[in-house]
Amino acid sequence: MTTNNTHLSDIKTGDEAIITKVLGHGAFRKRITEMGFVKGKKVTVIKNAPLQDPVEYEIMGYNVSLRRSEAELVEVVSIEDAASLSEIKFEGTIDEETLKVSALEKGKVINVALVGNPNCGKTTLFNYASGSHERVGNYSGVTVDAKEATMKKNGYTFRIVDLPGTYSITEYSPEELYVRRHITKKMPDIVVNVIDSSNLVRNMFLTTQLIDMNIKVVIALNMYDELEKKGVKFDYNGLGEMLGIPIIPTVASKGKGIDELFTKLIEVYEDLDPSVRHIHINYGPQIEKAIKDIQDVIWKNPAITDKLSSRYVAIKLLETDKSTLAELENFNNYEQIKSTAKQTIAELEKEYGERSETIITDAKYGFIDGALKETYKESKKGKRESKRELDDILTHRFLGFPIFLFFMWLMFQATFTLGSYPMGWINSGVGLLSEWVQHTMPHGALRDLVVDGIIGGVGGVIVFLPNIIILFFFISLMEDTGYMARASFIMDKLMHKIGLHGKSFIPLVMGFGCNVPAIMATRTLDNKKDRILTMIITPFMSCSARLPVYVLLISAIFPANQGLVLFSIYLIGITLAVLTALVMKRIAFAKKEVPFVMELPPYRIPTMKNTSLHMWHKGQQYLKKMGNVILLASILIWALGYFPRHTTYSTNYDTQIERVQSSRKLNGSQKQDLVKHLEIYKESERQEKSYIGQLGHAIEPAIKPLGFDWKMGVSIITGLAAKEIVVSSMGILYQTDMKADENSSSLKEEIKAQTHNTGKLKGQKVFTPLVSFCFMLFVLIYFPCIAVIAAVKKESSWHWAVFTMVYTTAIAWLLAFATYQIGSLFV
Ligand code: GDP
Ligand code: MG
Repeated sequence: MTTNNTHLSDIKTGDEAIITKVLGHGAFRKRITEMGFVKGKKVTVIKNAPLQDPVEYEIMGYNVSLRRSEAELVEVVSIEDAASLSEIKFEGTIDEETLKVSALEKGKVINVALVGNPNCGKTTLFNYASGSHERVGNYSGVTVDAKEATMKKNGYTFRIVDLPGTYSITEYSPEELYVRRHITKKMPDIVVNVIDSSNLVRNMFLTTQLIDMNIKVVIALNMYDELEKKGVKFDYNGLGEMLGIPIIPTVASKGKGIDELFTKLIEVYEDLDPSVRHIHINYGPQIEKAIKDIQDVIWKNPAITDKLSSRYVAIKLLETDKSTLAELENFNNYEQIKSTAKQTIAELEKEYGERSETIITDAKYGFIDGALKETYKESKKGKRESKRELDDILTHRFLGFPIFLFFMWLMFQATFTLGSYPMGWINSGVGLLSEWVQHTMPHGALRDLVVDGIIGGVGGVIVFLPNIIILFFFISLMEDTGYMARASFIMDKLMHKIGLHGKSFIPLVMGFGCNVPAIMATRTLDNKKDRILTMIITPFMSCSARLPVYVLLISAIFPANQGLVLFSIYLIGITLAVLTALVMKRIAFAKKEVPFVMELPPYRIPTMKNTSLHMWHKGQQYLKKMGNVILLASILIWALGYFPRHTTYSTNYDTQIERVQSSRKLNGSQKQDLVKHLEIYKESERQEKSYIGQLGHAIEPAIKPLGFDWKMGVSIITGLAAKEIVVSSMGILYQTDMKADENSSSLKEEIKAQTHNTGKLKGQKVFTPLVSFCFMLFVLIYFPCIAVIAAVKKESSWHWAVFTMVYTTAIAWLLAFATYQIGSLFV
């Protein structure tokens, strides 16, 4: 049988041929098969001149044109060949069906390449399978060459190529280049990755490169006898499912497992194995971004992606692989690709302080470590590498959790204790600024806008910046050292119970800082459903903007149990997240679990520079929010409270103030006190009659059943912009100078002293413990904030953004309602 294949590009004008195989890659393959170029179909060449590009064909009654480079990837047999292939010798004409069948027969040639480390048993396997007698042993240094043999099984012909052994398929040795060329140029149908199972970590490095190439791979887990001898427990099926690559244990020297291997090859060739899928090794956010940037320019040239996976080319370019670059030289946007790669590499190396190749290699080993950690159990411990020892403790089944909780506690503790110092400074700074503006600017609406609206609103929020920066610093530190990956690893099993997995854990932890970067961090999740589910439960992670509300109310109303109440609020948030996930998993996100690898990247000593940089990237988001959303909201709230300017008061406060001031019975400080009170009453009435007051009264029917007064209603509305504004609004509405410390005794005292002045509750305290708790609940749960909704929209769709708005608010109302109504029965 001839091994020379005819390609569609070789068929002359007017001739017909039958397709036997479509080579090529990804998007190209998909497109061309969608056009009808599949096994067994007849193609007629309409026009094919030697130098003409594209070439025109007719298939299934349609005329299509293919680029010559595309036509080269379609293997065909000419009608004559198909006829001669056909066993049935008719005297007259051969009908088309017979031709198709014989073409399919020809298509049943499966090209297999054996790839693996030196001495993993490739040649032994090759010999056994093909019955040939190649010398077994290591030939390194001898001319690079591949041996080919054929064998038949179940009606299929296997054309097997034994490639030279390599540890990698970079460009360092002629063997490596040879193997790579064979895979990319000859395009075997399936690559058999032969692995020496007594040395999994090293052997699997090559596997990670094959994964990047996005080709069909089956792993022959060779020397399986050695593994069994060691008494190792290895869930290779589990590993295979995680990798999307079938794994067949073999003992090539005894011929064990070879039959199973070839049966599997047929299954994979015919796309019958459901576990086969292409996975992406997650290289971490920075490298993934770099890959994406390079892919963007590669995609501009589809001729590249016909044969190679764009992701693979991008990764190779990031590894500064010269031969990949050389291969791209003839494509028209070569210069652009080259300069993009150069630039992204420079950025990466600056950030990591390491060569980009090293960063990628490290990530690959992180992937292998993570994959084996879950599937590979050694019988006796002892001969592990030192970096693994730390993992034994940090990801220990029992010790892992308390260690993790300790780090979390440390993080929150540091966030609030360390943060309190700069918080004080910023506070006084804001106070001084507003005083200075008050004295320098002329009286009028503009001054009020600057002082009460802008400085008051934004200033009230900026005081929390240090806490947020510190929280981000710790989160970056945990990411940079590699601990976050361990935390995700140990949380994985737990997260699976609620329909998520370990990778969702990082965004959720970040949510305690600010939900916006947390929502953005869901990008690291591969699966869209996981991403959306994580996104919609993230708002229940009480972000730092909500903390001021709790601190204010807890210190005013629950002085005896501060810690406990605060903890319960956070816990309720987490519980709600879990419950929501459980429910959503049932109704909208039911899915087949696809196991995947949780990477365990190597530990790194973080540098102050890197961690600060990452912290800054995260903090920027928050600053931006302050610069636009909070600024605008502050101005709006201020204006709504400031206008209309002409209020008809119930009593004439001004004459009362004059009367006090001219009174002879009162001494100076008494006068001052009275005047201050009168002014407050006046301002309070004006507020109530302002637009915002009207708004508050308008929503009263909705919030009354929760035990809230109209001022709380206004605070809730203003909190839509940002939760920090809830406190600012309470500061304005409950008559304290909001420019003073939010947590200062004055606002606290006012909150304690507030009584209802109308209705059947008249004279009773507004902030009972029950109402305060319900209010905190409501603030915890309802509408996260505009910035979060915008982030959800950006990362998913309007649909989910609207959903998030509605369901959070509904739950908040229902829960506050139930708590208040049930609580009222007892209190
Ligand atoms: P290659 O470099 O990958 O082609 O490896 P070879 O086929 O030359 O095999 C290297 C050595 O491993 C030879 O001595 C083989 O006999 C031995 N070998 C191959 N497969 C197995 C196996 O499954 N189990 C054991 N114990 N030895 C094997
Ligand atoms: Mg060999």
